[in-house]
Amino acid sequence: MAKVKILIVEDESIVAMDIKRRLVALGYQVIGHALSGEDAVSFSGEQRPDLVLMDIHLKGDMDGIKAADEIRRNYEIPVIYITAYSDEATLDRAKVTEPFGYILKPFQEREVHSAIEMAIYKHRAEQELREAKEAAVEGYKARSKFLANISHELRTPLNSILGMTQIAMDTENRNERNEYLSMAKDSGNHLLSLINSILEFSKMEAGKLELVEQPFQLDELIEEELYLVWSTETSEELELYVSIDEKSIFSLRGDAARLRQIFRNLLQNAVKFTPSGYVSVEVSTKGNIRTGRVELEVSVSDTGIGIPEKEKEEIFSLFYKLDNSLTMVQGGTGLGLAIVKNLIEMMDGSISLVTEEERGSTFTFTVPMKIDRKEMRPPLSLPSNTKVRLICDDSRTEKVKSEQIEGWNGKVYVQKHPCVEGKTDDIWCVFGKRMFTEGIKKRLLTEGVPKSKILVSSPVREEEHGDTDDVYVLPFFGGRKEFFKLLSEAAKAEVPRGKQIQCTLEEPVKGRNESTSVTAQDRGTSALGSWKAVFEIIGAFLNTGYTLLDKENFLEIEETALQLKVELEQWGYKELRDLLFKVVLAGRKEDKAAVKKALDNLKESNASRTIEE
Ligand code: ADP
Repeated sequence: MAKVKILIVEDESIVAMDIKRRLVALGYQVIGHALSGEDAVSFSGEQRPDLVLMDIHLKGDMDGIKAADEIRRNYEIPVIYITAYSDEATLDRAKVTEPFGYILKPFQEREVHSAIEMAIYKHRAEQELREAKEAAVEGYKARSKFLANISHELRTPLNSILGMTQIAMDTENRNERNEYLSMAKDSGNHLLSLINSILEFSKMEAGKLELVEQPFQLDELIEEELYLVWSTETSEELELYVSIDEKSIFSLRGDAARLRQIFRNLLQNAVKFTPSGYVSVEVSTKGNIRTGRVELEVSVSDTGIGIPEKEKEEIFSLFYKLDNSLTMVQGGTGLGLAIVKNLIEMMDGSISLVTEEERGSTFTFTVPMKIDRKEMRPPLSLPSNTKVRLICDDSRTEKVKSEQIEGWNGKVYVQKHPCVEGKTDDIWCVFGKRMFTEGIKKRLLTEGVPKSKILVSSPVREEEHGDTDDVYVLPFFGGRKEFFKLLSEAAKAEVPRGKQIQCTLEEPVKGRNESTSVTAQDRGTSALGSWKAVFEIIGAFLNTGYTLLDKENFLEIEETALQLKVELEQWGYKELRDLLFKVVLAGRKEDKAAVKKALDNLKESNASRTIEE
């Protein structure tokens, strides 16, 4: 144990030295000697001794009793008087300063020793008592706040149920009545989920929630949750990127249901608070098979509204909701993140948040997991010499998919354009918006790539895929095993010989003048390097454009037109670029008639072109 640190306050140096010698012999550490009351106060403030041995009669304005009073009040350090005075008046004055002992000179060592030990003990006991009292008061305040919050949160949906049922009872019109009852039902459901969350949280707090251990496949768990959230809760404006590190260990043991709950909560929040942009998920494990354990790390990032710096910690507290319009619209209980944090801590993990207002947030959590050796499968590997030509409409997907295919020992060639150049034995993987993939797919087929060697994937829900021309269609958000299976099949597929068409197209001429008749020399090697390709891509754009117009999805019209406009601009198609810009502007104004006119003009211009093969 550390030695007790003592300050001696004594204006006679010889006496002070004698006291010091005796204290050291008793095993104490004397950290200082003050000659006056003022020195004693300032020394105590700076050095914080465990105890002060104080002479009462000191030279100067401040005597020992005054100094002891200040030291007790300002620094809560116990003081023992060591003095030659024992008259009633001095004792009365000293009592007021609540000393921890009063030793009369001349003194015995044993006397000093027991006085110091008792003082230290008494001081510690008082301190512990004070801390326990403070904790009890804090606990009481927290419980009262919790109860006040719960009552408020429960009362809101309950009032709404009562109000809506009353209005429904007073309403004759059947349709209106149904509407009110449906609102009451929504509030009932909200109340139910609130009560479930509160019960779950209380169980956790009471230490009654036990984690279970079960085997699970990490990639399957992540993809299932992504699928559920993606297919039910996302808006069309939102893009989703998933990256599961292929070097990870996928067969794990742990509480899979709780892991799902944590991940789902973070994902749902990311989707809820990101009106447009993207949500991206990164999953990896670090560890060594020999240790039998891995550290699982999952990050959920979004480009949403973000969280103010000063509220970063608070959003993990119970019932905490940010004061912004999106939170008001989305509702919620404010319990999700508190439960998430508790669960992660129960699993011996941690969660962190990096966020910036208006730019988005990244929640990252790490939890230790056991490796399930019984279920360990060998890492996935594509047939040797599998070559994949990858064409994506955004660099993020390009990076994620390249890493994934390389992780399976495939050789990846990132292509910006679908110039086949005789590479019909390679697999052609196309990721992007529907219009993009459709255009590229048609081009690949015309250039002789067999269907069995083409894989396309678009961020559309399954039912929207429609006619796929028999090429493979992947679930966009991941489908790691599915993707691997399709790539393996495509790698093994036989290419019908003699059917290959060599790509004989020449380099495109950048910045050339637009002409309505194009010869073979004009045709380039890229998606937009030939008039034929431009004709097809504009055709595909028009099909999508008219469909989006029917649905009055002006935002998507504007975005796709803008994307195509930028590409056409790069290739020097000025007239088409201007026509597309009109589509962009009309879409931005959400003017249905103007969009239709702009699309019609584009259609007319496209149809007027003669394509010479
Ligand atoms: P709930 O269960 O109601 O969704 P949470 O505890 O999960 O509540 O989140 C608390 C609050 O933190 C939310 O109401 C929201 O204001 C804010 N929040 C959570 N996640 C995000 C995010 N990804 N982006 C912006 N705000 C967020």
